[in-house]
Parts: sequence; structure tokens; C-alpha cells
Amino acid sequence: MSTVAASATAAFAPDRTADVSRSEPYETVGEIHSPSARITVRDVTVWYGEKIGIENVNIDIGSNEVLALVGPSGCGKSTFLRCLNRMNDIIDNCRMTGTIRLDGDDIFDPKLDVVLLRARVGMVFQKPNPFPKSIYDNVAYGPRIHGLAETRVDTDEIVQRSLERAGLWEEVKDRLEQPGTGLSGGQQQRLCIARAIAVSPEVILMDEPCSALDPIATARIEELIDELRQQYAIALVTHSMQQAARVSQRTAYFHLGHLVEVGETSQIFTNPRHTLTEDYITGRVG
Ligand code: ADP
Ligand code: MG
Repeated sequence: MSTVAASATAAFAPDRTADVSRSEPYETVGEIHSPSARITVRDVTVWYGEKIGIENVNIDIGSNEVLALVGPSGCGKSTFLRCLNRMNDIIDNCRMTGTIRLDGDDIFDPKLDVVLLRARVGMVFQKPNPFPKSIYDNVAYGPRIHGLAETRVDTDEIVQRSLERAGLWEEVKDRLEQPGTGLSGGQQQRLCIARAIAVSPEVILMDEPCSALDPIATARIEELIDELRQQYAIALVTHSMQQAARVSQRTAYFHLGHLVEVGETSQIFTNPRHTLTEDYITGRVG
């Protein structure tokens, strides 16, 4: 998170001059609102050059929920996720229109510090990407640069608490000075989760966090996601319908850049309202 954040420019902003007349409002089926919204996304369209990545997306992400983002490859799940902490800023040619608010704050407000935004909206990627540093320093890095830890004692406490919450402490407490990259894949992913939660985020974005992991490591991460939900709002991209059914409360189905349908996960899986959703969940697409 932080290496990318450091290299980002703050110049990216929704392009208010873009010609949006050609994008017809897209009617998403289902309830896009959440009673406990942390993030609100309104009329968001993203282009890569002339090509549309996602179009007219409207949805809330609420606290204490896991929102699963599903749909065939290339439908815009990662594009959507990257909007939420402005990771698209660092992609050349990428433009956006629309509004995204985090607890009411416009995330494109020029006064908003994008490095701080990325602490408030943490991200975990498909491939675990620990820094080439010790296990300890991977977790301590964020709190240090954000001034959350003044003393070594403070830092020790945050590192231990974050590793405990990520379910990794018992496995690593005796080797905190060893490189994070020396851990197994599942442990590295939990280390990346510990790194994200060490800076006390409000929202955690996860882009297929288990697709490089074996079933046992996957089960461990799924348990963890369910625990983390008590404290954070979580948006989870997954290719696994079983995973979406196991860990999410709401599911959003994307198709060719459109948010086709959103609803309670149980409803989406048992009684989808849109035929495109039905085709996908019954395995006719994707
Ligand atoms: P998903 O995560 O659902 O597989 P993506 O968000 O990666 O979908 O992609 C949505 C669309 O945007 C696709 O058509 C993809 O080719 C395009 N796209 C994604 N990233 C880039 C990029 N960096 N440059 C150009 N086009 C991109
Ligand atoms: Mg993707």
C-alpha cells in the first residue's frame, strides 16, 4: 500500500469536463443503499483512454458487512475497487467521473491527503506482497509514517495487536525480525492484512485475496474476514461463488462494466432478479 501511495500524484481528480452524455444511466437491480454506509459511490464511470472500465456505478458499502464483488473476468471488479482508495490515479490514461464519499468526505477533495486516504481504505491484493523487510517492520511501517506510534513500546503494542487480529501472532512472535517474504503464502497474506489493519482503517478492500492460496490457508483467511467484519467495512472481489456465499452479507454482480444487481447474498444466490446474474451464478457464464 504505502510504496504505491508514496509514488502517487495528488493531481488525479474526477474529470468534470468529460463527455458523459454518451453514457446512459444504468439501472442497477436491487437495493444499492446501505443503512450503515461508510462509502457511497455515485454515478461513477471510469475510462482507460477511450475504453470504459466501469459505467454509472452506484452503491453503498456499509460498516460491519462484507460486500462480495462477483462477475466474469474483465467486468470491472478491480477497477471499481481501485476507485475506492484512488489506486486508479497511478494508472496512465485512467479517468473518472462521479462522486465517492468516505464517511461523508469527498475522496477527491484536493485538500484530502491521498496517503491518509489509503490508510483509511486499506487494500489487500491477490498475490501477497509483503515489503522486503522484517515481519515486525512490515506491520510497523504504516503506524510509523502516519505518526500513530511515538515510542518503541507503542509500536510493539500495535504490531502485536495487529498480528493477533490477523491471526498470525502465535506463528511469528518468536521470529519478528525475520523477513516477511520468508513466510508461507497464507501467512504472507495474513501479514498483509495485519499491515493494513495496523493503521486503523475504516474500510478494507480485498482483490481475490485467496486465489493464490491452498484450501487450508483460504479457510483461515475466510475466518479472519468474518472476524474483521465486526470492526470494518469490507469489499471482497472473489471468483469463488462458494466463498462469496460463505463470507459476504451482500453481493454485487458486475457484467461488462455495469453493476447489474446488488442484494443480500442469500437472495442473490437463491433468487437472483436479473437474468444476467442468474446465468452467472448457475454457471452459464464466466
Ligand atoms: P476484473 O477485475 O473484473 O477482471 P478489470 O477491472 O480488471 O476487471 O477490467 C475492467 C475493464 O477495464 C477490462 O476491459 C480491462 O481490460 C480494462 N482495464 C483494466 N485495467 C486496465 C488498464 N490498466 N489499462 C487499460 N485497460 C484496463
Ligand atoms: Mg480483477
